[in-house]
Amino acid sequence: MVGPAILPALNLVRYQHPDDPWAFGHATEEPAEVGELEREELMKLAKNAIVVNTLQDIYSSRHKNRRCESSTLTSTESLRFTRALYRIMLFQRVFPGKTTIYIDDADTEQEREIRAARKAFFAMYTTAELREIYAVNNFIEALGTWLVRKVLNQDYARCDHAIVVPAEVFLHAYQERNPRLINRHFAHETFAGANNLLVGYVTDPVQAVWKERGEVSLSDSFNHILDHIEEQDDICKQCGTKAGIELWSASNWATQNATSLAFLPCILETLHMAGELPHNAWERAVLQAHMRRGVSLEDLLAELFALKRLPAFSSWRPEDAICLNCLKRFVTQHLHLWLLERKREAGQFIGPDCWYGYHCRVHLIHHDEEHARSFNHLCQARGYWDDGS
Ligand SMILES: [Zn+2]
Ligand SMILES: [Zn+2]
Repeated sequence: MVGPAILPALNLVRYQHPDDPWAFGHATEEPAEVGELEREELMKLAKNAIVVNTLQDIYSSRHKNRRCESSTLTSTESLRFTRALYRIMLFQRVFPGKTTIYIDDADTEQEREIRAARKAFFAMYTTAELREIYAVNNFIEALGTWLVRKVLNQDYARCDHAIVVPAEVFLHAYQERNPRLINRHFAHETFAGANNLLVGYVTDPVQAVWKERGEVSLSDSFNHILDHIEEQDDICKQCGTKAGIELWSASNWATQNATSLAFLPCILETLHMAGELPHNAWERAVLQAHMRRGVSLEDLLAELFALKRLPAFSSWRPEDAICLNCLKRFVTQHLHLWLLERKREAGQFIGPDCWYGYHCRVHLIHHDEEHARSFNHLCQARGYWDDGS
């Protein structure tokens, strides 16, 4: 169950924290061999292995093979991922994030002492191992940010503490889709943000060791863990662009991450609407009101595909992998139709079609809000057929 990373796993369960829970501890080097295992150690190993393997499944399904929920990492890739995660979990036990939230940023001596000890911790590992640790750190931080944005629907929210709380706490928050469980772990009323010791919790000391060894700057790359990504060379079904793992299809609408995190906020700001609609404050307010009823990105995309679509898009299927640009083009050409449907369903007033449809600039030029309200602009200009190509 533990797999090839048994030595780092063992080092984690054998770690003893000092009696003072507010102190930081000292990790020992990893054992050279497994040796005799006590019953209690076996139980702890099994418990940690569940956390590590589950996070590995999530990592694999998001970054290696999105068609598969359980890990498809090769044994070498798995060794890199799991040993890095066990080492991060040990770091979390040796330097509990919880204990540093009370440290005043002004108390530089205490801060310096902690920083030196954290750096000494990572100095135990080789440069290649530090790369793996850095990659796994970035994976967890990105997953935390995804969780916060997804659940709290906060446009540009960040999650500073995903890596600072014990991995099992973070995993629980992720599985429950409840980022508040991360902050709750700190159980501190006045805890509002992050101090110097929480931001860059892992990356600061890793980079310090890195720099001392005269290495070039650490790059954020999945290559530190993965040798091969399943969809690496996949192209967009519509435009042929090679977008690999960044491609969108119905199976990953709900979990899509990385560069597209800000897609939903942009939709909310009507940036992806046809013609002059992005400047139509009236329709924007209507759209936002409908979206605030809890429409997720995946709900919205499914509903857009279910609409009677423009001829140019009639052959598009939700399960086809397409690039973000093509998806945005699709959304832009159909979001007004979706909104019109929602207004109809809700029995909201829909005026007669404006002659200029969504290309109308009357409300812009004349600041004529009355016009925006009285006429329907969620349509094409009369006698004009925009095929969206
Ligand atoms: Zn495309
Ligand atoms: Zn008009």
